[in-house]
Order: sequence, then C-alpha cells, then structure tokens
Amino acid sequence: ADIGSQKDRVVTEEEWLQKWEMGNIGFHKEQGHPLLRKYLDVLLKGRSGLRIFFPLCGKAVEMKWLADMGHEVVGVEVSEQALKEFFAEHSLPYCQEPVPEISGAKKLQSTSGNISLYCCSIYDLSSSVVGKFDGIWDRGALVAVNPCDRQRYVSLMITLMERNSSYLLVTVSYDPNKHKGPPFYVPESEIKSLFG
Ligand code: SAH
Repeated sequence: ADIGSQKDRVVTEEEWLQKWEMGNIGFHKEQGHPLLRKYLDVLLKGRSGLRIFFPLCGKAVEMKWLADMGHEVVGVEVSEQALKEFFAEHSLPYCQEPVPEISGAKKLQSTSGNISLYCCSIYDLSSSVVGKFDGIWDRGALVAVNPCDRQRYVSLMITLMERNSSYLLVTVSYDPNKHKGPPFYVPESEIKSLFG
C-alpha cells in the first residue's frame, strides 16, 4: 500500500504540546473507546490484577476504567498538561516525583498507587524503568508516531511485553493523499511487517 506524502511527515513534541495548550485535542474521547469495551476480554483473557500500558496516553479515560477494575495502569505522555487534566477530571489525588533514570522526566502517580503516568518521550522509556506489561492498549499511539519512527516504536513495545501479554491496536483507514495526519494511515501490510 502507498502511504504517499505521509512518509516523511514529522510532528514535533513542541507541536504536540501546542495542541494541548490550544485545546486542539479532537482525538480525546470523553466517553472512552467503544473498541476497548468490545475487545476487553481479548486484552484481559480472564486474568485479574494485570499491568496495563498506555503508550502516548494523553488523558485517555480508559486508564481510569482499567484501574477501577483492579489493574495497574502505566502511561507515558509528553504533555504534563494532559496528565494533570487526567487526574483533575477524575478527581484523583496524585503526587509527582522526578525519574532518576531519565533526565527531565517526571512520574505522576495516583495516591492510591495504581496509576503511574510518566511525563517524557516514549523513546526515553525502557523495561528497566517501567517493567513489563501483561497488556497494551494502543489507540492514537502507533498512528500518532511519526512514520519514520514506527520501527523504533514497535521494537520498544515488544521489549515491554511479558511472555503472555496481549496487544490491542486501533488504527484508522483512509486515503493518505487526502489528509496529512496524524492520525497517520498505517497499512495492514506494514503492521504485519512491524510486529512480525
Ligand atoms: N492515546 C491517547 C492520545 C492520542 S493523541 C488517546 O487515545 O486519547 C497522541 C498523544 O501522544 C498526544 O497526547 C501527544 O502529546 C502524545 N505524544 C506525541 N509524541 C509523543 C512521544 N514521543 N512520547 C510520548 N507522548 C507523545
């Protein structure tokens, strides 16, 4: 498949921060994502007390859903504003601390301890900092990554997965010559070659 003009497009971290400042966040779903409800069993496979990862988390309300079901949630997001809005909008008290292994990074953690959100670039994380996960919810994440960074992103995700973990991926399908993205169009064939 042809991803045309999107191949070389780059959205900088600065541009993402600006989107949050301007309230330009059409990607945020206040009601949560129907596909997570639909495929929840595929993610959880009947298991409880899982560690679930939210790459490029924004202020996704699904983090609250999964925490309320008794799972441990970890997210990563470059916008501190997004993370503060998440805790504020769910009236969750939290504390914040630096992350010794990652210069400039902060960890915002709910006081109850089951939601830890890292404010840094996804590319600064590794399993030595966040551990490994039983499940990953990838919505607005792979499709938001710059096309040139996809391989690096997916390789990192694979290193964060436990042996029996499940990965739910949401993509969008449209003519990439008609919109510049994000969300970017990631063809099915590319998903297969990226994840193997
Ligand atoms: N997954 C969320 C947000 C999708 S929008 C949801 O479903 O609502 C993509 C998010 O990724 C934005 O909030 C943006 O600030 C963040 N982001 C972009 N590049 C990033 C990077 N390199 N590391 C961490 N977060 C990033």
